[in-house]
Amino acid sequence: MSSAVTTQRAYNFSAGPAVLPVSVLEQVRDEMMCLPGSRCSLLEMSHRDKVFIDILHDAENTVRSLMGISDDYAVLFLQGGAALQFSMIPANLLAGSGKSAAYIQTGVWGKKAIAEAKKEGDVNVVYDAAESNFNHVPGSGDYSVSDDSAYLYFCNNETIQGVQFQDEPACPAGVPLVCDASSDFMHKPVDINKYGLMYACAQKNAGPAGVTVVVIRRDLLDRGSKTLPGYLQYKNHADADSEWNTPPTFAIWVLGKVARWLQDDIGGLEAIEKLNRQKSSLLYDAIDQSGGFYTGHAKPDCRSLMNVTFTLPNDDLQAAFIAEAAANDLVALKGHRSVGGIRASVYNAMPLEGAKALAQLMNDFASKNA
Ligand SMILES: *Cc1c(COP(=O)(O)O)cnc(C)c1O
Repeated sequence: MSSAVTTQRAYNFSAGPAVLPVSVLEQVRDEMMCLPGSRCSLLEMSHRDKVFIDILHDAENTVRSLMGISDDYAVLFLQGGAALQFSMIPANLLAGSGKSAAYIQTGVWGKKAIAEAKKEGDVNVVYDAAESNFNHVPGSGDYSVSDDSAYLYFCNNETIQGVQFQDEPACPAGVPLVCDASSDFMHKPVDINKYGLMYACAQKNAGPAGVTVVVIRRDLLDRGSKTLPGYLQYKNHADADSEWNTPPTFAIWVLGKVARWLQDDIGGLEAIEKLNRQKSSLLYDAIDQSGGFYTGHAKPDCRSLMNVTFTLPNDDLQAAFIAEAAANDLVALKGHRSVGGIRASVYNAMPLEGAKALAQLMNDFASKNA
């Protein structure tokens, strides 16, 4: 961080849109007025210009290489956020299939996806953690999925509650596994071949708002009814290389830079997982060593590496904590109203120093106020 503006930056724990790597923001700043090698800004360039097509392909190929995605899968860059996927998935894979889709509900985002899927077809909620205020994910023996389900849907990391699957949920062979990875996309290596479809809006862990990445096994592309509105048809986007209509060029550009940063500066997904474990452990240790001053929301075996959620003994202490954090350049820590307390989002781009500073504040605040 060099210029006067960058030194004003605090450690930003926002849940989304969220922290981006400083080096990526600097590149965007430097290239904004005129893209190197072009005579205009990327913002002013046709999406059919070869320069942009190369940027799109580079973003796609970097995501493919980071995640080990083979050509059996299409990688699509869409608009409409994660919310449109709540509808597009059942519109393509459930409606008209004569089957029912299985959903695991472990938090608010899964709940919203279920509400939308019900508009498209028959939904079977095979596991619902609502009664425990979404503080855990199920084990493989806690639910069952019929072999002829259209797919099994789950949200890997529930951003609001801070609960995360540690491994893929059990799913019968032959039933496509569908994952909302919006808040933990590319946070660790995954075996994508276990999935039928994985998607993520970018603005949590992968880039700016405006683009949603959909990784879909090609054999699923044909399932959408021909009468679907064109934009909602996955096959249209796959056939047109994400240029069926104008894609979100700015967001794709930045997402590609974030992916390159992950690959070149961080060293890939194993390296980022190690860093993510370090950062979240600092915060969970502060909770566990506070003698009950902080209460973690998630059960310890399904704690999120991305969103650390906890409460303080009362609202006054919580407000004092947030104020003291802000005075120490630690911002956007207020939890979602449905969970209360604090939510510290420590996505890929949060530096280790930010997590260290927050853990230090948690320790100091607890010893002063317990
Ligand atoms: C933020 C979020 C969403 C909603 O994303 P939008 O782009 O606002 O539609 C869905 N799922 C998860 C897990 C999220 O974190």
